[in-house]
This record gives sequence, C-alpha cells and structure tokens, in this order.
Amino acid sequence: MKRVALLGATGSIGRQAIEIVEAHPELELCAAASGSSPLDGIAAPFTQVGGDLTELLDRAEPDVVLNAVVGFTGIHATLWALEHGVDLALANKESLVAAGDLALAAQRRGGGRLLPVDSEHSALFQCLEGREPDQVAALVLTGSGGPFRGRTRDELADVTPEAALAHPTWRMGPKITVDSSTLANKGLELIEAHFLFGVPYERIEVILQPTSIVHSLVRFRDGAALAHIGYPDMRAPISFALTYPERAATPLAPLDLTSLTLEFAAPDLETFPMLALAREAGERGGTYPCAFNAANEVAVAAFLDGRLPFLSIAEVVADAIERVDGAPANDIDDLLEADARARALAGETVAVA
Ligand code: NAD
Ligand code: MG
Repeated sequence: MKRVALLGATGSIGRQAIEIVEAHPELELCAAASGSSPLDGIAAPFTQVGGDLTELLDRAEPDVVLNAVVGFTGIHATLWALEHGVDLALANKESLVAAGDLALAAQRRGGGRLLPVDSEHSALFQCLEGREPDQVAALVLTGSGGPFRGRTRDELADVTPEAALAHPTWRMGPKITVDSSTLANKGLELIEAHFLFGVPYERIEVILQPTSIVHSLVRFRDGAALAHIGYPDMRAPISFALTYPERAATPLAPLDLTSLTLEFAAPDLETFPMLALAREAGERGGTYPCAFNAANEVAVAAFLDGRLPFLSIAEVVADAIERVDGAPANDIDDLLEADARARALAGETVAVA
C-alpha cells in the first residue's frame, strides 16, 4: 500500500486525485486537507481544514504527498516532503517557483522523489526518462494560449473575471485559470521546468498549441524531438505521479488520432507580457521568481475581486520586480520575507491602480 497525503483535497486537482486513489487498490488516503472548504465526503484517518500542514504530515506519515494547494501557502508542505525524503507529487508549482534552490537543496538532503503533476512537466519528465541536461537541446513547453489568444491589447482592456475564467480546454481552479489567460501560468511553468530539470532558461521554449493535445516536448541533441500527446485530462499526470514508476491503468479514453489536427503558434509576448516578465525574473534568479509569484498572486486576487483591470496585472508584477532587491534566500525565513515584501509592494500598486 502507498499512503497518500492529499493537500488541497477539495480543489480541482484534489477531487480528481481522489478519483484516482479510489480506483487504485494499492493507493490509500492517509490524510486530506483543505484551506477553508469542508472536507464533506472525504474520508481519511487524518483530516484538517486550515492550519499548519506540516503538523498534519508529521502525524500522518505519508509515503507520498500530493501538494495540490493553490499558491505560495503550499511552501511549507513542499519543503516538509523534500526535507523528509517523502515523495512529492507536485501540483503546487508556486512553491517550487518561489523556493527554487532552497527546495532543491532540501531534496538533496532528504533524497525523496520530486514528481511533477503539472501536465507539461509530467510530459517532459516522461520524455526525458531521467536523462542528463547535456543531452537536451531544448525543452518545449506547450500552452493553449488561454481564452484571449489572438486578441489585441485594446480588446483586453475591459475583460471581466468571468471571461478570464472561461478556459477553452482545461477546467481548473480560479487562480490558475486567470494565470492561463495572462500567460503567467506558462511563465510559472518556465521557472518550474528550469528547477525540475536543471535546463538553463535559454534552452526552454514556449509554443502555443490551442487544443492542448501536445502536452510538451523535448528536443534532444541528436535532432530527435519527443512529444507527449493525450487529451487534456489531469487524471493522467496525477495517476502517473501517484503510481510512479508503475504507470497504472486509468479509465481515460484512447486518443482518436484521425480526429486530431495539431497547429502551433508563437506566443504574443507584447500583448501578454507576463511570460517575458517570468523569464526575466527566472534569469535574474535569487528571490526574483518568488517576487514574480507573490505580486502575481496579489494582482490576480485583486482582478478577481473587481479591484484591478486585466491589463494592470502585468503592471503590478513588473513594478514589484523592479522594486524588490531579489537577494537570494538562505533559509525559509528569508524566503517568507521576500514573499511578504513583494506582496506589500504589489498591494501598494493595486491600491493606486
Ligand atoms: P483549486 O482552487 O481548485 O483548489 C485549491 C485547493 O487548495 C482547495 O482544496 C483549497 O481548499 C486548498 N487550499 C488553499 N489554501 C490552503 C491552505 N492554506 N491549506 C490547505 N489547503 C489550502 O486549485 P487547483 O486548480 O486544484 O490548483 C491547485 C494547484 O495545482 C495550483 O498550484 C495549480 O497551479 C496547480 N495545477 C492545477 C491544475 C488544474 O488542472 N487544476 C493543473 C496544473 C497545476
Ligand atoms: Mg500546466
């Protein structure tokens, strides 16, 4: 039996993970947690709504932690798993983006596996098969382009939260759905890929593939490019991570190849500045990715609240990146401070926007 601690159990990833666990006789839920929503109908020996996730993990002693919490608040659970050598199935990309080198150092000490749940990174992980970065010419992250693909800046001035929440291919929680509409999600994924696979930013490309069938691909130095294709369904990467290396059966429908058309397009970096901002934050290193993430969280919450226009999300983030010092974090306290500082700066900009 593999004992799974599911954090963020009431969310989009959490609910699909429960389906996977219930269908697999060798997986059992040992703990389930949410932020504030009740865990109605979710049975586990240890449950918790709100509060300190590391205390829950200490008590539950899981074999694998599925971190499906949304936002930087998932940081403590990510570091707990990595530090304790417990396998981490990571959906909560914000924690890896923010913690970066600190997370990798914790993993080296702990010795557990870091298994991506983000579909693109699960795809890359599978195409890479553990190969060293020097065999890789480039990682190619794919993205749908979100609901506003093809629009001009003028056409984005008045978009509502409802419009941003209408994603063309994926059904996800509100924060990541807005991130998909600004391309901040692809920016976070760029930084996530850098830390997961040790590939420098200049060798990580982003391409749009509007139907979300190609989940990402790897260009190798011998000229081969391996792609991972499938319907957009998070149960596939969730199952892969939870049952790794077994690759257990799932009820997913096989791809109907004759019904597919695969078109690719370059992302529009001028209309959607968040992707370039993320690349800049990633290349600067230190706590710049943490600041990018923190400011984005503040801006997205304000947009969803009707307090910030869509186009100002990127302005808030650009401004925060310019004003933080970005000094590397030596420990979690440094990181929490960098996060708080960027949130405060972003909050100031939101207030006057
Ligand atoms: P969601 O909003 O649907 O769910 C978030 C979950 O986190 C909820 O269960 C909520 O109660 C819980 N939560 C929030 N704060 C918490 C706290 N302090 N302690 C414990 N639990 C807390 O979000 P989602 O779409 O499921 O996304 C979760 C994470 O997975 C995000 O980091 C997202 O970027 C990532 N992700 C999601 C998808 C997807 O298809 N939904 C795909 C790739 C990556
Ligand atoms: Mg993704």
